[in-house]
Amino acid sequence: MKAIRRFTVRPVLPDTLRPLSDLARNLRWSWHEPTRELFRSVDPDGWKAAESDPVRLLGSVTAARLTELAADEDFLAALAAAADDLDRYLREPRWYQAQHSERLPAAVAYFSPEFGVTAALPQYSGGLGILAGDHLKAASDLGVPLTGVGLLYRHGYFRQSLSRDGWQQEHYPVLDPGELPVTLLREHDGSPARVTLALPGGRRLHAHIWVAQVGRVPLLMLDSDVEENGPAERDVTDRLYGGGSEHRLLQEMLLGIGGVRAVRAYARLTDGPEPEVFHTNEGHAGFLGLERIRELMGSGLDFDGSLESVRAGTVFTTHTPVPAGIDRFDRELVARHFGEDGELPGVDVTRVLALGRETYPGGDQGVFNMAVMGLRLAQRANGVSTLHGAVSREMFSGLWPGFDAQEAPITSITNGVHAPTWVAPELAALCGRATDVPDRELWDLRRTLREQLVGDVRERLRASWRQRGAGSAELGWIDSVLDPDVLTIGFARRVPSYKRLTLMLRDKPRLTSLLLDPERPVQIVVAGKAHPADDGGKRLVQELVRFADDPKVRHRIVFLPDYGMGMARRLYPGCDVWLNNPLRPLEACGTSGMKAALNGGLNLSVLDGWWDEWFEPDFGWAIPTADGAAALDEERRDDLEAHALYELVEKRVAPRFYDRGADGVPSRWTEMVRRTLTDLGPKVLADRMVREYVERLYAPAAEAARALVPGAARELAAWKAEVRAAWPQVTVDHVEFGEDLGEAELGATLLVRVRVALGTLRPDDVEVQAVAGRVDPDDTLTGARVSVLKPTGTPDLEGRRLYEGPLVLDRTGPFGCTVRALPSHPLLPTPTDLGLTALPSEAKGEGAGVLMR
Ligand SMILES: *Cc1c(COP(=O)(O)O)cnc(C)c1O
Repeated sequence: MKAIRRFTVRPVLPDTLRPLSDLARNLRWSWHEPTRELFRSVDPDGWKAAESDPVRLLGSVTAARLTELAADEDFLAALAAAADDLDRYLREPRWYQAQHSERLPAAVAYFSPEFGVTAALPQYSGGLGILAGDHLKAASDLGVPLTGVGLLYRHGYFRQSLSRDGWQQEHYPVLDPGELPVTLLREHDGSPARVTLALPGGRRLHAHIWVAQVGRVPLLMLDSDVEENGPAERDVTDRLYGGGSEHRLLQEMLLGIGGVRAVRAYARLTDGPEPEVFHTNEGHAGFLGLERIRELMGSGLDFDGSLESVRAGTVFTTHTPVPAGIDRFDRELVARHFGEDGELPGVDVTRVLALGRETYPGGDQGVFNMAVMGLRLAQRANGVSTLHGAVSREMFSGLWPGFDAQEAPITSITNGVHAPTWVAPELAALCGRATDVPDRELWDLRRTLREQLVGDVRERLRASWRQRGAGSAELGWIDSVLDPDVLTIGFARRVPSYKRLTLMLRDKPRLTSLLLDPERPVQIVVAGKAHPADDGGKRLVQELVRFADDPKVRHRIVFLPDYGMGMARRLYPGCDVWLNNPLRPLEACGTSGMKAALNGGLNLSVLDGWWDEWFEPDFGWAIPTADGAAALDEERRDDLEAHALYELVEKRVAPRFYDRGADGVPSRWTEMVRRTLTDLGPKVLADRMVREYVERLYAPAAEAARALVPGAARELAAWKAEVRAAWPQVTVDHVEFGEDLGEAELGATLLVRVRVALGTLRPDDVEVQAVAGRVDPDDTLTGARVSVLKPTGTPDLEGRRLYEGPLVLDRTGPFGCTVRALPSHPLLPTPTDLGLTALPSEAKGEGAGVLMR
């Protein structure tokens, strides 16, 4: 029989145990080992059955056990200590409070389509969400006044299992908020707080707001599954990354527009500060900028002034160079949902559409691009590793047509991971001592972690085979799957094609002989979900599963279904080597290898994302990538890179792992583990990442936003309009370098002079620069330095002004220089902001820039 209604009966805790409920409701337990220990001690078997979820644990524990605990002095003392500790954590001043800086924002709102905080709140699909979760946790640890904003998906992403023949099966269990660690945001009268969006045809989309408390950071999650909605609207937040484009658009409108309204409601109901900075994690939440424009227009500013003000306080992070990761909507669809008949009445739809337009060469005029809008609505933008910053500048350079790609105003902050979440407790206990721990101890600890993984893998594999229809009698072999003394390689991630799940299968006999090597065997643990609509990805999963099902190798290679945070926490510490073989440079950062490194795992990876930046031979191995013609032929490229991978494993990795001293310890390996822990570990931390966001993006954004009070915003917008109109008249000519450049010597100083016609602009509106540096054979400047030329004298008869300044020839070899004029205003974040520049008529390539609108 099926139930027609389900609801959750909450346990009634005896008074003395009440603090347990507070501890369960603050997700800090998910990274605070002593609190987890406390919950485990409530009921060790129940804790396991509840998959380490305190809310579920408390829902299942018997009344008799509660009575027993209520009288257990030791337990009560531990409970009081944990409650005190949480209380202190929530109140005491932390890093942010110690900055004593007026520059820092009073609050920051951080928007993301997914958040991976804990397996107990499954609202993520992969790296983007887990990064967002780590961002919240690190912000909490640092005391950064951040509020997370997302959606509550009633089915989360999906749960993965396998059919008998290895085809991915998707399940969408319903998540009941009553069983999740969230609380409903309520008005002072007790009714649920609500946000409402207008949809075409007079329909309304309502949502309630759930709050998950992530340490000090509230995470607001909008939920459209409420009675006031019609059936279609109820389903808007049904699942993450599901549905067609209209469904996605509604989700993103709810996230961006509804999200800002939720932030306002939360500030009002908690008497908290309003955010000064809005950070959007990837383009999906970009509509938040439009909602803020609407708010400002309601207070009397026009569109352009509001746009300037909003841009000043917005930070946009791009996370992928892969086109499938960027949302692009049909323009008509967007047009239908905005304007008088939809949301943001009063905001001109043509202005909205212009923000998402792909104005650059090769752009599709029929689409509305969320990343492009994200860049236009934010004064500050970044990629997520040094390499990805460069790739993003190249990719989006068409938005700043007068400039070289490397001048595009997109910086980079390399991702990091939250150590308390990802470091095995056994290793965390070693914290700070890694330099001094004897090899033996370090090696034994690594073995313990590997052994735990082996146990975990067997359990998961058995469950998977049961699920695939095998009877217990068939499964005896699982007891000898994996060996706690064999070199263990991990590979787990989502399965988009660029991550190349099956690269290791390129030469199956070769892989087989590596796995079965009698002296130096290797074992591999693989996991990953393919997007439900990606049959190509599911075929890759199937190919891997079929290989791993083969009785000849199944004790050395396993595929574990349903990769998620719970599994990941076991996997990273247990693997000796973490493998990553994406197609360079498509892995924007990658974070799983960082989590492995924090646990003393060595990386074996293509030089992409973070590994391109921080690879050192002490931390692991770099898989060489194909270049030249081979890189262009997919088959050859994969063959070459797979071959390089096998070679590394056979000739370098395995020999080092099995090279044992008299004491049985591989000292060179342990040395690498130690160096990884002590030298690489501190770099890959989310703490470091969030501090960088605060110092390099949030603080300047808050200052810029404060400077753009309505009067200044109006003035800046008017100034931009004037400069755009006048720019075609700005010309740069008669450049002189004072000396014959052919004879130049190192250390010489040249006097650069140039005449610039300003048209109707004032000298202050323009900055004239000399740009000089190395040149390549086609005269392109690389690594150029900019120096500002000063206006001198009065305009000549034709109204042109003379600018001049010194230029030092500080390097030998081919040297080149040019001159350009740019718009200049104290409130511009970068000189590229308008996408306008004027070059001398003799300059090669484009002349005067085109407007960026
Ligand atoms: C860290 C993590 C990811 C991201 O891994 P990448 O290296 O970025 O591919 C995905 N899923 C889970 C469960 C993770 O913990």
